[in-house]
Amino acid sequence: MTATDTPAPTRDIPSYLDPNNIGPYEIFLEQVERVTPYLGKLAFWVDTLKRPKRILVVDVPIHLDDGTVAHFEGYRVQHNTSRGPAKGGVRYHQDVTLSEVMALSAWMTIKNAAVNLPYGGGKGGIRLDPRKYSQGELERVTRRYTTEIGLIIGPEKDIPAPDVNTGPQTMAWMMDTYSMNVGRTATGVVTGKPVSLGGSLGRADATGRGVFVTGSEAMKKMGMSLDGARIAIQGFGNVGEAAARNFHSHGAKIVAIQDVTGTIYSEAGIDPAAALAHLRQTGKITGLEGSEEIGKDDFWGVDCDVLIPAALEKQITLANADKIKAKLVVEGANGPTIPAADDLLASKGITVVPDVLANAGGVTVSYFEWVQDFSSFFWTEDEINKRLDRIMSEAFLSLWDVKEKHNVTLRTAVYIVACTRVLEARALRGLYP
Ligand code: GLU
Repeated sequence: MTATDTPAPTRDIPSYLDPNNIGPYEIFLEQVERVTPYLGKLAFWVDTLKRPKRILVVDVPIHLDDGTVAHFEGYRVQHNTSRGPAKGGVRYHQDVTLSEVMALSAWMTIKNAAVNLPYGGGKGGIRLDPRKYSQGELERVTRRYTTEIGLIIGPEKDIPAPDVNTGPQTMAWMMDTYSMNVGRTATGVVTGKPVSLGGSLGRADATGRGVFVTGSEAMKKMGMSLDGARIAIQGFGNVGEAAARNFHSHGAKIVAIQDVTGTIYSEAGIDPAAALAHLRQTGKITGLEGSEEIGKDDFWGVDCDVLIPAALEKQITLANADKIKAKLVVEGANGPTIPAADDLLASKGITVVPDVLANAGGVTVSYFEWVQDFSSFFWTEDEINKRLDRIMSEAFLSLWDVKEKHNVTLRTAVYIVACTRVLEARALRGLYP
């Protein structure tokens, strides 16, 4: 095919996206198209999923420490609210775009429905590199952003939470700003808060714990033993570090870790606690005693049983999927595998526990936090972990059955169940007015 007969994009996409460069939202559209044939009569409503319900783009101006004024682009997208309020994190990253936030919000809709939480999906983001700003500047950005999106968020409307480069302190500022604006302390407006401010025990580790629970359930189904299983992890932040710790404490061996600072490998296995201490002390993952540094691209070809992408989207592509030796991929990150690479992995017989199931532990404990804030009654860490483990493993097992029944990938199975739940709610509610 020559450049002149390249077909024009056939997708019906919203006019505010560039048809020649749709960005990450294209991945989501492709995932929805793949699942449409399985939706029966509910396919009538499928365009609901393709079009986010509400998008807010805001200007976030702040005084920098040097006295000048800087403007940042902020977003909040409420993809769907058919099953309940929008819910999803806020990301601070220099590459944040509208298309990315749209995709992330849509994946929240699927994720929340997949584990049957009474939420729709939302996501927010600010286009900035947080490493370049002081704590004071980040606080001012967070407070102004919260005020700007204050029009559409609220404990019963849309509940933000942490995501890449945001954490409990960010949520404390958001909660305080929203509370000041409405004139009362509203703890339920965000989740992932510090425990002393209505946060939940177990929230910090919840995403990584869920990655472990679903990953180890998949290993059982596949006849793989945890003991001595070789694990490679991309990303050593909130998700990757907790996942590594959980796998390590159950006898698995962390053979490789990659993060923004580099990639390390150890045949004998890496102790995640030592890696974390080293990262905190030196600011990088490389140079850890007992490990060797390997090239960025060599990470994908590491000899391992389980590969856990726990960083950003679009990491597993046609450029590296072929090198992957793992039998199982557990997606700690949102959107780490592009659809073409997904097909390649499937054709190689590699099982993928998709993001919308594997990393749902975080939002599940966010849900517990929101419930605890409403009732002002707080649960023990043990109660939280038990409830989390039960929700994650029951969801995994029932979705695995759907995969077997339809002879599809686990991702398609999750989309079948989640889209059916969302569109059933949509059909029952009908259109207003
Ligand atoms: N940012 C996390 C996610 O992608 C958590 C969202 C939440 O707790 O609302 O699932």
